[in-house]
Amino acid sequence: MKKEQLHIEYDLYNDISELSGEDAALVQAARDVTAKAYAPYSNFLVGAFAKLANGETISGTNQENASFPVGICAERVLLSAASVLHTNVPIDTLAVSYHNLNGESNKPVSPCGMCRQALREYEDRTKQPIRLILSGMEGKIIILERSTMLLPLSFGGDDMK
Ligand SMILES: [Zn+2]
Repeated sequence: MKKEQLHIEYDLYNDISELSGEDAALVQAARDVTAKAYAPYSNFLVGAFAKLANGETISGTNQENASFPVGICAERVLLSAASVLHTNVPIDTLAVSYHNLNGESNKPVSPCGMCRQALREYEDRTKQPIRLILSGMEGKIIILERSTMLLPLSFGGDDMK
């Protein structure tokens, strides 16, 4: 037996003013699209905005439902839309933000476990890492070079061969 270690590195910015112009635009777009979320139960509005390898952009917001498990996160709405509208086109960068109508929105939001799995599948499928920018409506911002950094020792299609 031997001990193994997992180590991830990410970039932490104090606020949007420290980002490149292109990244700042993606964050602002993710913030703006939170207004299109359908979240009457949680009042936690999530917006996702991505730039694809073909230069196109695409957005997603969380879509809740009175039958709670029916709801779907902004990230997976975006991935589903990208899969249909730009089939097999890799996602270069995906920005996620949120507007918490019941509290603060000043810490970076992070994808839930189910979305991390969905992001992993999208990376596998398109054979390209998805760069993630995590933010709130204000405050610190995290950038990860690939979404799978958030899902170490994960399960994927290769495990089924
Ligand atoms: Zn999620």
